[in-house]
Parts: sequence; C-alpha cells; structure tokens
Amino acid sequence: SSDAQEKSARSPAPASRTRRRYVSKLYQNFGKLQPEDLGVCKSYKLMLYNEIIGACYPGAFHLLPLGQRAMEKLVRIIDQEMEAVGGQKISMPTLAPDTLWKASGRWESTGKELFSLHDRHENQFCLGPTHEELITSLVASHSPVSFQQLPQLLYQITRKFRDEMSPKHGLLRGREFEMKDMYTFDTNEETAMETYHTVCDAYSNVFDRIRVPYEKVRGSTGNIGGSLSHEFHYVAEAGEDRLLLCLRCGLQVNQEMAEGTSQEDLCQGSREHCQLTESKGIEVGHCFYLGTKYSSVFNATYTDDAENIRPIHMGCFGLGVTRILQAAIEVLSKERQLRWPSSIAPYQVCIIPQKEGYQADLYFRLAEELSDQLSGMPNMAGEVVIDDRTKFTIGRRIYEASRIGYPFVIALGKKALADPCQLEVINTATEETQFLSREQLMDLM
Ligand code: ATP
Ligand code: MG
Ligand code: MG
Ligand code: MG
Repeated sequence: SSDAQEKSARSPAPASRTRRRYVSKLYQNFGKLQPEDLGVCKSYKLMLYNEIIGACYPGAFHLLPLGQRAMEKLVRIIDQEMEAVGGQKISMPTLAPDTLWKASGRWESTGKELFSLHDRHENQFCLGPTHEELITSLVASHSPVSFQQLPQLLYQITRKFRDEMSPKHGLLRGREFEMKDMYTFDTNEETAMETYHTVCDAYSNVFDRIRVPYEKVRGSTGNIGGSLSHEFHYVAEAGEDRLLLCLRCGLQVNQEMAEGTSQEDLCQGSREHCQLTESKGIEVGHCFYLGTKYSSVFNATYTDDAENIRPIHMGCFGLGVTRILQAAIEVLSKERQLRWPSSIAPYQVCIIPQKEGYQADLYFRLAEELSDQLSGMPNMAGEVVIDDRTKFTIGRRIYEASRIGYPFVIALGKKALADPCQLEVINTATEETQFLSREQLMDLM
C-alpha cells in the first residue's frame, strides 16, 4: 500500500477534488485604501489598491496572493524560455563574503548601494545585488573544466538587495526585488558571442510571450563591466531611463550609453533624414558580454583540446522579475482599471451570479457548474473564481472585477437561466460584451 500511496502522490488531483474559489474567501477586497491616498505612479496605486502587493517599508513589499500567483506564472514563462536555450537552474546563497567582492573591486565601486553586515565572528558579507563573484568562484572551484563541458548556462531566480538612493514607484525600484540572473561560460569570444545572441533571443521570446510591447536598445555596461550590452525596456512615462530611437536608421540606444555623442554621430546610414525620438523607458532586462573580466580574477579556466589551460569567456543576463510584473501593468492599465497581460493574470475568469433574491440558489448552482466545467479545460485548473458576495448587485461586482482586471468576467443575470444563449461575457481588456451559449464560452477559452 505504500506503493499505492506513492503513486497517488505523483498523480494530479482529480478534477472533482479541485477546490472552487470564492471571492469572499480571497485575500482581496478589503478596500481600506483609497487610490487618492497613494503614491504617484498608476501601477503602484492600482497594485496597492487592489491588494496585489502590500507596502512594508520604503522599497520593500509583500507580494499578496494575487501578486504571488502572477509572479509564479511569469517565473514559469522565464523558466521555459531559459530551459529552451539550455539553461540550468541553480540557487546561490544570498549572503556573499566581502573577500570575493573585494577581489573583483566591486565592494568599492558599488559603494553605498551594497547592503553589508557582519557575522558573530566579525566576518563581513553583503546581501547579493547580483552574483558574478559567487558564480565565477563556484566555476573556478571546478577549474580547469574540459572544453567539452562548455558552454554552460546557469541561472537562478532569487531575491536581490540594493540600497537604492531613492526607492520609487513600488516594485519598479525596490530595495529588495526578484531577479532572474543567468551566467554563461564559453571557451572563446566567438562562441561566447553566439551564446550572447541566443540568450538575447530567449529574452525576446519571454517578452513576446508576455505580450507587452518592448524596445531592445544598446546599453551601457556600467558597474557590471564588459564590452557589449543590450537592454530591454517598456516605454512608459514612469520610466527613469531615456531611450533614443530612430525609425529611419534603426538606432536604438540608452541615452546613458550615448552621453557626449552628437545626434549625427549616433545615427548611421542616410543621416540627413534621420529623426531621433526620445522616450522614457523602464529597464526590464539587461544582457552583458563580460569577456574574461571575472574569470581572470577568480581563475575560472578550461583545458582546450591541446591541454592548454585558458580563461573562460562569460556573459551575464538579468531580468527584473518583480519589475516586469508592475511595469507590464503600468503600460496596459487605465488610471482606475488594472489590466494584466493575460499570460500572467492571477485568475482568468470571474463568474458573478445574480444578487440574492428570487431563484438565487439556481444562479449560484449555475455559477458552480460553469466554474467546474471551465476549470476542466486545458490550462484552466484553478483559474476560475466565483464572486459569491451576492448581497451586492451584479453591476457593482462587475465594476470591481474589471477594476482588478480578470481577463474575462461572466455575469449570470436574469436571462442566464431562461435562455442558454445568454451568458454575458465581458472581455475586460477590450471592454466588449458578448452573449454566448455555454458551448461558445468553452470555445472562447
Ligand atoms: P536601473 O538602471 O533601473 O537602476 P540597473 O541597470 O542598475 O537598473 P541591472 O544591474 O542591469 O540593473 O540589473 C538587472 C535587472 O534587474 C534590471 O534590468 C532591472 O530589470 C532589475 N532591477 C535593477 N534594479 C532594480 C530595483 N531596484 N528594483 C527592481 N528591479 C530592479
Ligand atoms: Mg541600478
Ligand atoms: Mg540601468
Ligand atoms: Mg542595467
């Protein structure tokens, strides 16, 4: 019977045991905050107001259940795209010894942005803002590796810490935040460049799947170092970076990188027709080619086919996971209505049965039946909630559901029982309402 137990632990929960979810039991709609009381940036207000995140202290936030669900969906997309290019997931310590950071010179150069602390033996550590030192010394501990074992693409999705001068706009600039950081290890510059472009393409795939428009621009290598760098940005007024874009010659660059260069020198090709536009961008991803900057410090090496020991060529690639979560909302939302990319919306569907009163139990049963049927569709398990607060009118609950941004809201009004073609289905992104039969609804999902 222990065999049977083990088997049942491996098999998915049968649909009949999948819990129905009721809005009255969700950690939301406490409604104590008013948007007027909150900060300045739209997505930050919407996320606080709708209980996606909770404020803890400046630069630090609780991800509440809705925020955590969205974040896990985003992580799944990232994992799939990193695995598709051969990425292997790891998890490194958060506390990093000062010795490693002093060896690379970044203890000094990072300065006050680094959170540092001592242990009981007076050893000093920082809370990792990024992990080049740790990963390079890890690979160095196995060095020299064989050229046949390269390339290696290692990544993690973990909490990062930066004592930002001015934490701002909620998750957009936190002092703790989730980052996906990948580090790549190659035999020479040429293969490292191939890896660089492969990972940049994987980033494009991540952003294509999120389906929020983005720009890829040349970026500066800043404090991380290296010689080539691209950034991914969402264009939004709340962004703190300035992007220079030219539709004519294809120039796309972060102004940080263009400092001191004239427009003529920036634009390539048929210059007199060039027209630079400037947009504000939120930096959501960053790719660097590092060369041997870190491998030479920590002695991360490989043996080539003639048994020569050579330094490894590295790249590093960051994605601001929690920043993407909020920046996507910043781009898509209206002032008072939160809009999710449907790929990461915490729940896909909210069903709203008729207000209490005549035949209320029949509407409620219909809501539960629909919920079970929808939850049985591919990828829909756990994606449906029922707004069981039937003391409120349907109208009020539709308003709240579209404010929170469920991609689909299904209202079961008076006609729903009488006529099977009268399920009112609202697409909150387009604000279109359709009246559908059950079959048509299932086809839509
Ligand atoms: P910024 O220019 O906004 O300060 P950065 O260039 O210092 O960001 P990187 O070192 O390139 O950041 O880190 C990789 C990614 O981590 C960034 O592209 C961004 O998406 C995210 N990130 C960086 N700092 C923060 C922060 N304080 N809060 C949330 N996400 C951040
Ligand atoms: Mg920074
Ligand atoms: Mg930057
Ligand atoms: Mg950057």
